[in-house]
Amino acid sequence: MSYYEKLIFELSKPGRRGAAVPSGTGEVKVPFGDGAKCWRSEAPALPEVSEPDVVRHYTRLSQLNFGVDGGFYPLGSCTMKYNPKVCEDVPALFAGLHPLQDEETTAGARELLSGAERFLCALTGMKHFTFSPCAGAHGELTGLMIIRRYHEMRGDTARTRILVPDSAHGTNPASAAICGLEPVTVPSGPDGLVDPEALRPLLGPDIAGIMLTNPNTLGLFEKHIKEIAELVHGCGGLLYYDGANLNPLVGVLRPGDMGFDVMHVNLHKTFSTPHGGGGPGSGPVGVCEALKDALAQVDGKVSAFHGNFGVIVRAYAYILMLGREHVKELGPFATLAANYIKESLRDKFKLPIDSVCKHEFVFDGLIDDGGREGVPAATTLDVAKRMLDYGFHAPTIYFPLLFHQSMMIEPTETESLETLDECIAVLRKIADEAAVDPSLLKSAPHNTPIGRPDETEAARHPILKFTAEA
Ligand SMILES: *Cc1c(COP(=O)(O)O)cnc(C)c1O
Repeated sequence: MSYYEKLIFELSKPGRRGAAVPSGTGEVKVPFGDGAKCWRSEAPALPEVSEPDVVRHYTRLSQLNFGVDGGFYPLGSCTMKYNPKVCEDVPALFAGLHPLQDEETTAGARELLSGAERFLCALTGMKHFTFSPCAGAHGELTGLMIIRRYHEMRGDTARTRILVPDSAHGTNPASAAICGLEPVTVPSGPDGLVDPEALRPLLGPDIAGIMLTNPNTLGLFEKHIKEIAELVHGCGGLLYYDGANLNPLVGVLRPGDMGFDVMHVNLHKTFSTPHGGGGPGSGPVGVCEALKDALAQVDGKVSAFHGNFGVIVRAYAYILMLGREHVKELGPFATLAANYIKESLRDKFKLPIDSVCKHEFVFDGLIDDGGREGVPAATTLDVAKRMLDYGFHAPTIYFPLLFHQSMMIEPTETESLETLDECIAVLRKIADEAAVDPSLLKSAPHNTPIGRPDETEAARHPILKFTAEA
């Protein structure tokens, strides 16, 4: 094993130090006061290494992980876009703020919250927002609580079911169930869209509403949205908009104008904030005027104070930075980038639904997967693993569940044409490799520190720390 592959514990040499502390009499001459009582009797089992060892250790760890600062990250349904560094600087201005400090001293923060609310209302067509929810799924739960409350306040307690298309993100039915609503699946038509005729027989006095994202998780615009809104409203239900896919609509079309009554925005997907590794996020929930009172009853009940304030500051900075003129470019550029990649690869990958997409699209595996008598075919997993060898993050795979070999690509609006071209070239190369010798893909990745862990084991029983006995 080379020096560079060793763990920091394996580099340890007894007595080696990174820094010297003066020790004239053998006792450290630092005044510890009463702290001395807390001294441990035995030294901790830490590696004994020099400063360069420590610096290299942490630098190496930081490079083991893939991040959007290091390369293209086309993870569909997640919007892993580049977020300007200035949006990281602005929250630092509020670092000293405490939610319990005297109101007189928090005017700036409160002004920022109402400014952010004005921006979100202008961009979505909603009338009021709460910033409490800390993620998209948390926003869904909050929004559904508002819907339940709205019906209850009208004395209508029979609405216990909520419609969710089969293409929905898994968080939708999960949030509904947590909120005590029974999710009812709406089947998609062959074009991947909600068919009003399939919806009609499901409607009735027990329906609290429908949860929809538009564009949907296939990246397709639900073109029957006006009819869907009329049908659901006609039976007394409400429309919930899963705003995780707001990106292609920013500055183009507003959920409020499509007939939605309640929605969340994933600030961490649409308006800056790096969100790899699961956090922190912000899922503010907006409502139309008729739901103002129901919102007031739920507001403040799902998290402390104003949720993840730092993420709201980033979103505010991002929107201000783009301004009225440039914010309108987000949607069109995200849409253009996705269609460009889709059209450039359609001769190599199966396109199950052939239509203009919005910010993301889904392939259903390779056209020529190399599979022959005695030669196992290259799957979507194999393509994804091979991409890592070429320095690209893999797209979302095996989601949505509508197809067996789903590969969901979302390039975002922040990548240059050169980066998109590079990604296309890599995917074309991988497709050609598969056609000739799928085993090359099946054993990929070849260049990463870890190849193919047992994904279930790695998620359920991750080994995250060094144990000396091991
Ligand atoms: C990401 C996403 C969610 C969930 O948002 P989180 O912030 O991850 O909780 C919900 N719906 C869709 C369509 C998404 O892409």
